[in-house]
Formats: sequence, C-alpha cells, structure tokens
Amino acid sequence: MKKMVLAIALVVLASVAVAASTDYTLTPWKYGVVAWVQGEPNVATLQKVEKAVADVFSFWHQPLPESAGTWSDLQEMEKGTWAASKYDPFTAGFVPIPSPDASKMLAVPLPSWDGEKILPLTLLIASNRSLVQSLAGSTAGAAFSYRSPTYTVLSLNPNPSLAMFMSRSDSVILNYNSPDLRHNLDHELSHWLTNLICQRHDLTLQDVPHLLQEGFAEYTACKLGRDGRWRNIAAVWAKDDHDLLNVPYYMLYPIGTSLVSFLVKRDGVDGFIEGFSDLVANWDQIIPDITPLWQAWASNYEIDGAQQAYAEANIEQLSLCGMVLQPVLPEEAFSIFDRVYSLAGSMEDIERFWELISAPVPRPSGDIWKQLQEEVHTIVWVASGDSYPGIVKMAAENEYQLSRLWAKGDWYAYHALLIETLRNVVAHYGTAQRVGAKAEESK
Ligand SMILES: [Zn+2]
Repeated sequence: MKKMVLAIALVVLASVAVAASTDYTLTPWKYGVVAWVQGEPNVATLQKVEKAVADVFSFWHQPLPESAGTWSDLQEMEKGTWAASKYDPFTAGFVPIPSPDASKMLAVPLPSWDGEKILPLTLLIASNRSLVQSLAGSTAGAAFSYRSPTYTVLSLNPNPSLAMFMSRSDSVILNYNSPDLRHNLDHELSHWLTNLICQRHDLTLQDVPHLLQEGFAEYTACKLGRDGRWRNIAAVWAKDDHDLLNVPYYMLYPIGTSLVSFLVKRDGVDGFIEGFSDLVANWDQIIPDITPLWQAWASNYEIDGAQQAYAEANIEQLSLCGMVLQPVLPEEAFSIFDRVYSLAGSMEDIERFWELISAPVPRPSGDIWKQLQEEVHTIVWVASGDSYPGIVKMAAENEYQLSRLWAKGDWYAYHALLIETLRNVVAHYGTAQRVGAKAEESK
C-alpha cells in the first residue's frame, strides 16, 4: 500500500514538474550534477567546492571519491533501463533525474569511493540565504541531505524537480554568496564523508548521534579554517559539569567539536576513524566513561575575561535574545554584542545586557508589540529541543500567559514575563541565570 501511495505521489510530482518554472541550470561536476538555482554556472564556485572536498577527505586521511570515467556531459537516459534495474541505482549504475524543462530524463553515473560505487552528490547552489532555506526546508545557512525517498523535503521543497534529485542522491545545498562559504562547505562535505564512512560499516547517518554528527563536521571545518573559538565555550561548559548525553541542540556544535578534538588527540586521526563505528554502535555505554576525562581536558583550557564573556554570550544565547527583542532593543545592546562576540567584551557586559533589557520599556505601538508577540514562538521552538526537565513546560505555559497579557493589553506585565522567559528558557544554561535561580531556591 505504501508503495502505491509513493507511486501516485511521484506521478503527481512529475506532472507538477512540467508545469513548474524551470528556474535553474544543470551542469555536470566530478561527483554528480550541479543545479544552479536562479543563477548562472560559475567555474570559480565549483573550484572552491572541489578544493574543499580534497581538503576534507585528506584531513581525515581518506581516499578521494573517483568520478565516473565517462562523466563530462549531461547524458540522456536510455529508455527502459531504470525500470530494468528495478529502480535501484546500484544495479542501474546511474541515478535518473529530469532535465530542467522536464522534456527528458538524464542519467547521472555513480562515482566510486574506496573501491565501492556510491551515490552521486548533487550540489544545489543558490545565490542567497533565504533560497537555501526554502530548498533545505530549514533555517540552515547550508545543508547536507542524504538520499531518502520519503524525505520530508519532498513535500516542503517548492520545486518538485529539485526535490526529486534530493530524494535520489545525496545533496549539499549552499549559498555561494555567503561570507562563510568555505566553512559551510567544509562542514557539509564532512557530513557527506560521515555518510560514506557509515556505509562502509553498514550504518546510516541516522545511526550517528547528533553530537557526533555535528562535532565531526564542525571540528573539520574549524580545524581547516583555524578557528578555535569553540574552546572557550567548551571550557566554560565543561566546568559546569554538564554531561555529554543531553547536550541542547545549539550547543551540539562547540561541544561536539570539543569531544571530537579530545578523541582525535587521544586516538589520532586514524584511530578515531577506526573506532568510529564502535563509538556509534556503543555510544550510550562509551560516553559516560569518556565524560569525566573530557570534562577534565576541556576545562583545563585557560581563558581570559573576554573569552569567558564570549563563551557566556553563546551559552546564554544573547544574540537570539536580542533577535526576539529586536523591536524594543536599546541601542547600547548592539555595542555590547559587538564587543562580546568579537572577543573584546567582559562579564560585566553580560550583566549589563540583562540589566538593560530588564528595565521597563514604554509601551510600543500595536504593530511593534504584535511583532514581538510573533517572536514568542521562537522561544518555544528553542525549548522544544531541550531535554532539561521543566523547560518545555515552562516555555509553553509562559507562551500562553504572554498571549493572555497581549490580548488584555497589559504591556508592563507582558514585558516583565517576556524577559523572565528569555532568562529562564533561552539563557537557561548561563552561569548568571543559575546563580539567580539558586538564590531564589534558598530564599
Ligand atoms: Zn551540520
């Protein structure tokens, strides 16, 4: 029955594809095809991608994927060959994708890696961030998506032909105008490499815990980009005795980076790669043993006041608090952000930020208040990824109370509760917040 539904869905998609605007150009690249979405093909961008592939794979002492020998032009698929393979790319030796005008099917041959055939890697290259977000179906600045015929992108993606590529091959979606292009490439291509390593061990990327997935990708990107700022965040986090099995979503990147760095220091690059499948398979048993060793190692990194403030701002998600409050945020808050995030601030800046935003603000216009109220769901969304007891409930309760106060027009009570919610939900893991909460408890 499921297959039937999928078949019908694909027929519908195929017919929509004919009608959809074909706002992209296809070109081949070493390991698959590039869809240049709302933009012209650009050799320099492709060179950057190829350089990043080479750097990421060699960083981990892994062989480079090999392009299919005959692959230099887009080739039309021979009729009947896809059905004859029973729709299996590994039997067919290619992945079929529609041409942008949907007039014919193209066959993208499979590259190989480490002696085995692998799926092609589709690059979806866009010219701005919001396009990436609509293609990836997320708020990410760039994304890796592995092949999955039932992936939700099928229903989210506004362009059915592009959605079809994504359901048939692995893909990387990126914005070539991003100031972080190189970092994003290194990060997303590391997810591709993780996916390939998983296949070597009969695992899937889904088997890899999020902390390890993001840690592997971000460690690679930070190492290649010589960015060590994660050390400050990890040092403060480790001192606070947090365990590694329940890291909140936004901390997966710096803490995962720190964990992978610790393991690579301990086992070496080759040892880490050799132990990878064992770590994935026995994560819940291995991590509790590693945690105290990691804590001792990460917290041993000495940081100065500016580095501590940088870490604290990240842990308390100050920029997110600033984004929620943006319509009523005092000018001084922006200069605090400038200092703290460029590693030139102090812990007094953090305290000053909370003092500043906690001061009562005159009632804003209806439109501005409505804008604020619309941002409240961001808080609930942030809380939803948190396993700390009570956080999800508190966020939901406060959201309800805030909407009541908004309907009543009680601005001062609304503002006070909004700030309290930012402190207790969004900035929950911050030192200042916990010191405050302990004082409350002991009262
Ligand atoms: Zn990632």
